Amino acid sequence: MAIGSVESVAVVAVPFPAQGHLNQLVHLSLLLASRGLDVHYAAPPPHVLQARSRLHGWDPDTLRTIHFHDLDISAYESPSPDPAAPTPFPSHLMPMIETYEVAARGPLDALLDRLSASYRRVVVLYDRLISFAVAAAARLRNGEAFGLQCVAISYGIGWLDPAHQLLREHGLQFHPVDACMSKEFVEYLYRSEQDGAVPAGLVMNTCRALEGEFINEISAHPMFKEQKLFAVGPLNPLLDASARTRGKTRHECTDWLDKQPPASVLYVSFGTTSTLRGDQVAELSAALKGSKQRFIWVLRDADRADIFADSGESRHTELLSRFTAETQGTGLVITGWAPQLEILAHGATAAFLSHCGWNSTMESLSHGKPILAWPMHSDQPWDAELVCKYLKAGLLVRPWEKHSEVIPAEAIQEVIEEAMISEKGMAMRQRAKVLGEAVRASLADGGSSRKDLDDFVGHITR
Ligand code: UDP
Repeated sequence: MAIGSVESVAVVAVPFPAQGHLNQLVHLSLLLASRGLDVHYAAPPPHVLQARSRLHGWDPDTLRTIHFHDLDISAYESPSPDPAAPTPFPSHLMPMIETYEVAARGPLDALLDRLSASYRRVVVLYDRLISFAVAAAARLRNGEAFGLQCVAISYGIGWLDPAHQLLREHGLQFHPVDACMSKEFVEYLYRSEQDGAVPAGLVMNTCRALEGEFINEISAHPMFKEQKLFAVGPLNPLLDASARTRGKTRHECTDWLDKQPPASVLYVSFGTTSTLRGDQVAELSAALKGSKQRFIWVLRDADRADIFADSGESRHTELLSRFTAETQGTGLVITGWAPQLEILAHGATAAFLSHCGWNSTMESLSHGKPILAWPMHSDQPWDAELVCKYLKAGLLVRPWEKHSEVIPAEAIQEVIEEAMISEKGMAMRQRAKVLGEAVRASLADGGSSRKDLDDFVGHITR
């Protein structure tokens, strides 16, 4: 690969300030820095801290290879999520998002101006949820912008055309965006899309093994005709089955996993933007107990906008003390931060009961683990559709149509047992394993994602 003058190019990563997005741009930044590029990562101070402190799959020392910058923005409210809210969309993040949208522009412009004066080219790598960064790059005499698609590219196709022929051919249903997100957030997205400037291209956190047909389709779409597209995923590091952390400390759950039989544990987590109602938590706990399967359950509410703000005592304390006593030896409940990548990579983990955030989906499939899909909001209903119907590497726990209902323990338990002990479950686990191998091959020498990342580096350093 000819990357003539990497040192004269600055890459500026501008994330959307929520965990699943901060995370992807950190991974991509580290990958680019490991190829000799000067990478700058700019976000509000608590989000820079969040991105750094929740690094997973990399040695923390690698963070030294990135220049982190604080984008100081005005104060915003950071309320706790409301478990009784009529929809599970994390509307409690809106004050932060709306402040960021307005207040980050000035500090970002100032940073870009500074870099523009000392580098031959400034490449703004921005999350597609914050399109104002495209206009910020367009102001520069030597700037260009690339969007990072942090969600499935097939979701992007459904977004452009919910009745797209490719979706129909596969019998896939795209749920209307405003049924899966709050009205305010949809308005925010349309508003930010109207910011005007067109990026030079799109970097996608996906790979041909999972979404080849959809990647081809988006490449042919008139909207992307003038743009360069690169499918470089999965961005998450791939750990091996002995899953030793590359960090300095080990979580107690990995010691526990080491003592469990191969492929015997169900991992349960709803990510960082979803909050289950109290009665739903009770039903899920009854299902886990009733199934008698080994499990690791991450029981936490959605992040606050500022994760370092005090969240007070867990609202599940009472249920937890009873449940942990009743399931002693069979499972673990984690109320803090779980080492998800290590859990998914571990040989003792059989499957993942997940809300189907795109990170969780990619992390699970890239480690060959099938998904018990329980989508909560946003792109997750689509991801569940993709995993269960298209990739056939998952089972639906709760179809999107029932998102306002409490799912009873019996129904959840049935799906857990199907995945963990039935022949159909075994076949699905085998299918996920094969898919996992194909995904990993994408990143290996000669793989399509490796090649696209090489091409991207070659292009921005041309
Ligand atoms: N995650 C983790 N430990 C936890 C909870 C979440 O490592 O206890 C990580 C998970 O591995 C993933 C991200 O947080 O990388 C969640 O992103 P995702 O897109 O799956 O869902 P979201 O949180 O955006 O709804």
